[in-house]
Order: sequence, then C-alpha cells, then structure tokens
Amino acid sequence: MTGIITDILPFSVNDGPGIRTGIFFKGCPLSCRWCHNPETQRPGPQAMVLPSRCTGCGTCASACPTGARGAHGEMDSSRCTGCGACVSACPAKACRISGTAMTPGDVLARILPDKPFFRGRGGVTLTGGEPMEQAGFVLELAALLREEGIGVAMETSGCAPAEAFRAVLPYIGLFLYDWKMTDPEQHRFWTGRDNALIRKNLEMLHDSGAEIVLRCLIVPGVNDTREHFRGIGELTQDLPRIRRVDLLPYHALGNNKRTQLGLPADGFSVPEEETVRGWQEELRSLCRVPVCR
Ligand code: SF4
Ligand code: SF4
Ligand code: SF4
Repeated sequence: MTGIITDILPFSVNDGPGIRTGIFFKGCPLSCRWCHNPETQRPGPQAMVLPSRCTGCGTCASACPTGARGAHGEMDSSRCTGCGACVSACPAKACRISGTAMTPGDVLARILPDKPFFRGRGGVTLTGGEPMEQAGFVLELAALLREEGIGVAMETSGCAPAEAFRAVLPYIGLFLYDWKMTDPEQHRFWTGRDNALIRKNLEMLHDSGAEIVLRCLIVPGVNDTREHFRGIGELTQDLPRIRRVDLLPYHALGNNKRTQLGLPADGFSVPEEETVRGWQEELRSLCRVPVCR
C-alpha cells in the first residue's frame, strides 16, 4: 500500500504533547476558504511554482501536456495532473511537485531517527489535509508506530466515515479535532460541507473514550461570533470528556502556498492580539475546560 504524503516535518511543538514529527497527508473532503495548507486539498500530486525563482521564460508551458501552465509560467492548478514534466523542464528550478507516494515502511524509516527526541511524551502527529482520506494507510502506519512504541496523535476535520474512525481509534492516543463552525449552513458555505457528520463522529469518539482536544480556528468576519463561541461552550458541556479547547487565531501563512498554486490570496485578515485575548476571555467564560492558545 502507498499513501500520498506532502511533508514529514520533525521537531514540531504545536501539534500535541512533547516534540513531534508531523506527517502531512494529501487529500481533504473540505475546502475551507482560509485553508493554511491548500496544497493538501487535492488527493493527487500537483505542481507548485516558486515566484521568487521563476523568470517567466515559458519553458514549462511548452513542456506541460495539459495546458496547466501559461506563456510566462502562470499556474492553473485545476488542470495539473502532477506529471512532473515542468519540474524537469524548468531551467530555474522554480517548480516542484507536492505529494509523494510512500509506503508505511518508507514513512516509518523517515520517523525513526526522530524517536530519541520523543522521550516517551512526544511522538507522531498525522495531519494534512485530512489523514482519514487515506484511512487504510493510517491504519498500517499506526500499527507500525505502535510496534516501535511511538505514540500517535491525529489532527482531523472529523469528516470521514464513522467506521473508518472506529478502525483507527485503538491506535490514536489523541485526536486534535477541528470544530470550525456551529451553524451547519454557515459550515457548508465556508467549507463546502455541513457539520452533521463531524458532530456525529465527535460524539462517537467521545463516547468511545477517545482523548480529544477541540481545535477552534477563529477567522475574523467568519466565525468570531457570539453564536459560535456559545456553540463551542455547549459542546464542552455536552461532551465532558473533551480535555481542552485550543483557540487558533487565523494566520495568513497559507497565502504563500496559494501563490505557488496559482490561486488568489484568501482575503482574510489576521486578528490583533487584543482581539484574540477578547476571544479567549469570552470562550473561557463559556467552556467548562481550559481554553489555550
Ligand atoms: S506537473 Fe507541471 S507539466 Fe505536469 S500537468 Fe502539472 S503543471 Fe503541467
Ligand atoms: S516556472 Fe521555470 S520554466 Fe516556467 S516560466 Fe518560470 S522559470 Fe520558466
Ligand atoms: S480541513 Fe484543514 S486541510 Fe482541509 S480544507 Fe480545511 S483547513 Fe484545509
């Protein structure tokens, strides 16, 4: 079995306890308009272009078999099949392919050198994209990691079949579970899907005894509303085994990747520190668990 992986990043301290290695899976059932990893949304490999290196020579346009590249190297991601012809053709080394086919054994071999740094507390975090889009691969990789005594956390949108979650549950020590929008229609408007399945899976995992941290990305003008904050508070009341709420203020780092994919900037604004402090205070007054940043 192979999976499509965009990155393996060691020494992360933001995605679970201790020092962790992040495995970034390609493919996501959602299309959040603020997505910080837009290159992970599509399931297959695809080209990215570094504007700082591109000279606009147009060699890639002649090499590309699908017409995904414009006369001066412009990128139309929707037409890219990830064939790699532009990478070989580009004299400026401005192109790269995001998404590599790897076996669970390949991934394990990349992780093992990091193992001494985990020191019993850290481990591996599966993220993306949505890891559960490649649930069979997750299962095989998680089993290998267990054999090595390496703990596994998963960052998930929660948007996957319940039976797939049930299958991986025994291997996942911590779910970093996104809760993006309380109102189902708003959820559909901003992410492309409503949140019914996401809520159902959250309840199922909670009732099955999973360790859960709720991750709430707050985007100004999108979900910084009293209604959503109240919804987060109610979730922590209804599902009392949720361990913590992580408040994640929107950041604009995804825009750099959007440029490399030939996409326009997402148009959202980064909140002021004072605004974020206000959100945190409000959430603390509504939630029955710690609200951290
Ligand atoms: S990888 Fe490059 S050459 Fe191949 S389809 Fe995509 S843009 Fe075109
Ligand atoms: S990406 Fe490379 S080949 Fe394409 S226009 Fe830019 S420099 Fe030329
Ligand atoms: S769930 Fe995450 S990876 Fe998927 S589109 Fe939303 S922000 Fe991007």
